[in-house]
Amino acid sequence: MSGELDIIDEIIRKRGLASRIFANREVLHPDYVPDTLPHREEEIRKLANILIVSAQGERPSNVLLYGLTGTGKTVVTKYVVKRIVEKASSIGRNLGYAYVNTRKIDTPYKVMASIASSVGLRVPYTGLAISEVYRKYVNALESWGGLHIVILDEIDHFVKRKGDDILYKLLRINEDLVKSKVAIIGITNNLYFVEHLDPRVRSSLGEEEMYFPPYNAEQLYTILKQRAEKAFHPGVVDDAVISYCAALAAREHGDARRALDLLRVAGEIAERESAQVVSVEHVKKALVEIEEGRIHQSIISLPLQQKLVLKVAVELASKKGYTTTGEVYSSYVEEARKRGLEPLSMRSVSQILSQLDMMGLILAEVKSLGKHGLTKIIRVKDDVINVVKKVLADV
Ligand code: ADP
Ligand code: MG
Repeated sequence: MSGELDIIDEIIRKRGLASRIFANREVLHPDYVPDTLPHREEEIRKLANILIVSAQGERPSNVLLYGLTGTGKTVVTKYVVKRIVEKASSIGRNLGYAYVNTRKIDTPYKVMASIASSVGLRVPYTGLAISEVYRKYVNALESWGGLHIVILDEIDHFVKRKGDDILYKLLRINEDLVKSKVAIIGITNNLYFVEHLDPRVRSSLGEEEMYFPPYNAEQLYTILKQRAEKAFHPGVVDDAVISYCAALAAREHGDARRALDLLRVAGEIAERESAQVVSVEHVKKALVEIEEGRIHQSIISLPLQQKLVLKVAVELASKKGYTTTGEVYSSYVEEARKRGLEPLSMRSVSQILSQLDMMGLILAEVKSLGKHGLTKIIRVKDDVINVVKKVLADV
């Protein structure tokens, strides 16, 4: 016990309790909604123009927002809806909203329960039929008599899992309502989803559609600069560091979340190192840390057999720089037997290798062996090797 306290004391002695780096770390949190959203004026104006009628109690069109991750869809929607709800309440209108991220709230029941709870209902997280929750929600809306805006974020997860039945019901809920109304805002990061949406759903969900383009490096710079001024103490982060984060994020696809993550993690690393300022070197370290975190996440969520195939492939490839499907297979069979696992077929292992390739964990290249057929040459990048050795040591 006293040993642990000494460590805490030592950290406090070294860093002090107040951060020398961050003035307000919250500002870099992904859920923080800033006062202004540079480079999204047009999108804010368009969404506000669609939704403004709701401040007078009229049902606005349903809206479908789509675009790649980190293009500001969630933050713009929250910003506009919150402002309009505030306006409505200042003139005594009944306007409310529900925000549900259907990737995080991950069953249709919980989604329905979460929507219902935003009109003040207390719904148990299990135990009722979903149709019963729906009915309670309808009744609550009717006795409230207002307009409810339901924001379904990352809606592709909702539709993918359970077909569109609950979504379809929500889209037609106004047929069950007399004194109240519901408008739906759907948001997705998945462009493929939009193209392949059931035409019935698309026509009612997408009464209005808005596409959010990626940011370029200059735009990311302005966004980061504005956040950095609030998040860090003066003089801690200079423009070169901000430009560097913006350039790295623009190189991917103009993802503002990525840019903010880089800056936040760079700040945390600077803090851990008791540095006075955040440097480009800290951003480089942040890039590695974030990348390793991503690799880590994708590895720990693999099923056991996949983990074993990956582990074997990495061990073989790290010895001589590359390996082949055949080598992986024979070594895998041996290792599976040692662990009392029934080995999968060559075909299944080959499929697993293709999946690992698609996930970016290995690099597989098909090579012809002349009349002996085809094989895959498998290589593994150093960062993956490092993470696999740590994460799969016990597999
Ligand atoms: P999406 O929903 O499109 O994936 P988000 O709205 O979550 O993207 O934005 C990702 C992060 O970037 C959030 O932290 C958000 O606050 C920030 N962000 C995005 N666009 C802007 C902008 N124009 N100005 C300031 N911050 C922004
Ligand atoms: Mg989002």
